[in-house]
Amino acid sequence: MRTPVGIECPHFYGDYHRGRNHEECQLLASSDPPQNWQAELCKTCPVPGILRANSCKNMRLNAQVTRLVFDLFKRRVYVSAFCEKTLKSVEKPEIGCGECHPLPPIFEVKK
Ligand code: SF4
Repeated sequence: MRTPVGIECPHFYGDYHRGRNHEECQLLASSDPPQNWQAELCKTCPVPGILRANSCKNMRLNAQVTRLVFDLFKRRVYVSAFCEKTLKSVEKPEIGCGECHPLPPIFEVKK
């Protein structure tokens, strides 16, 4: 579903049927601990980009709302990722852990 800022995100849910105006981020609601969502968070959220780059079914995202150190009024979504197959945290969610989708040898750096 398209977020209020016009980006496609599978975690956004909006119910506008018969005058309702209910919107929520199901990723933030299901995070541990659950986080409060506001539409402005979607502007800078990295989740849609991560999911466009990596659609691995074994990767689970956990999102937290944080404040920037140098600008305490701005709230941003920080995402951590975990692989349910290797049971490891994923450092770069856009790339993945490398277990299911290893890079072809042409991309390996020789030492
Ligand atoms: S905050 Fe991020 S994950 Fe949640 S609906 Fe907006 S873009 Fe999607």
